[in-house]
Amino acid sequence: MNTNGKTSSDPALRNIDALLPDLTELYKDIHSHPELSMQETRTAGIAATRLKAAGFEVTSGVGKTGVVGLLRNGDGPTVMLRADMDALPVQEATGLPYASTAIATDEDGNTVPVSHMCGHDMHVTWLAGATKLLAEARTSWRGTLMAVFQPAEETGEGAKAMIDDGLFKRFPKPDVILGQHVMVGPAGTVAGRAGAITSAADSLQIKLFGRGAHGSMPQASIDPVVMAASIVLRLQTIVSREVAATESAVLTVGVLQAGTKENVIPDDAIIKLNVRTFDAGVRSRVLAAIERVVNAEATASGAPRKPEITSIDYYPLNVNNQEATQRVVEAFREHFGTARVRPTGPAPASEDFGSFGAEWHVPSVFWFVGGTDPDVYAKARDANKLNELPVNHSPKFAPVLNPTLKTGVESLVVAARAWMLE
Ligand code: ZN
Ligand code: ZN
Repeated sequence: MNTNGKTSSDPALRNIDALLPDLTELYKDIHSHPELSMQETRTAGIAATRLKAAGFEVTSGVGKTGVVGLLRNGDGPTVMLRADMDALPVQEATGLPYASTAIATDEDGNTVPVSHMCGHDMHVTWLAGATKLLAEARTSWRGTLMAVFQPAEETGEGAKAMIDDGLFKRFPKPDVILGQHVMVGPAGTVAGRAGAITSAADSLQIKLFGRGAHGSMPQASIDPVVMAASIVLRLQTIVSREVAATESAVLTVGVLQAGTKENVIPDDAIIKLNVRTFDAGVRSRVLAAIERVVNAEATASGAPRKPEITSIDYYPLNVNNQEATQRVVEAFREHFGTARVRPTGPAPASEDFGSFGAEWHVPSVFWFVGGTDPDVYAKARDANKLNELPVNHSPKFAPVLNPTLKTGVESLVVAARAWMLE
């Protein structure tokens, strides 16, 4: 589609350069006022105010802090654009003049530093910019534009909270759902693929039961520390020995906790792990293998009780619809030129964006927008050091504003326009 020559002459993009100073200020403001998952009241307020000013009907408080804006503009397709709003409990170390010094109280009552180290501040800014431009150019398209500012992507709760709060009943069903994420990659480029684009993620807590005793009398104990250590090592064989070379999975034990004193054998131990998969079959096999290994090692230790395995969170596999992806990629190539549209493999990151399309039975497309200084990226690539660039969630993750900000507004507008023709 988009064969009617609406490229850089797209009426919706004619005023983009004039809007950039305002969007730059907006970005810096949100960046220096980050909010934890489900606490995004200030950010949501800004989103709602801007949508109203652009002429959208606005509903706030959808899934606690989510905001939905509708711009009904005659008969035509409904296109949903989604941005997530939450920040992370990370101490920012970018050294930027507008770096966050914010602190907040997390859901467990702990005081934590907060910063936008996943770039959701950029996502909010992009969507604020794209909705304004599309609203101003509404005589050049028909249909309904639906802007969704989602809370709590980082905890996997936000999309579900909006769905549970009636998103599918209270608002028109879209013909397509579009979303994007700032990632490591040359700024000014976009990257996408049909099929799996981000992985399924499962976080599990495993509580192991032993029997505590004095450290000098191990015969009186069932040592959960040794049990946990065996489990951690044995879990490493799941991906290396049970997943085929042509398949892929990641299994990381991120938490291993037991004991309080060197001469006391504790009663129990806690393991927390994270699994990433790109295929439903691989996922169920890996999860079954974890359960098998954990239970067998507990039995081997003579544990008095079966381990408790509980889910901490789950992100579904995020699958880009074939046809819709092709339409977006063609529009990108036409607008940006082929050199700025990069292919990408599926990212081992996870996203709850996929829930909207999967549960609403609507095709969805999710793509990446490069945020790395192109010279820095080229040097790292030539030195085979791409892995050393600060990635999302690193305390040093800092997208370059120019041209990342402009590129992400353009990509949202161009992708939406692939459906919303005159
Ligand atoms: Zn993140
Ligand atoms: Zn993110």
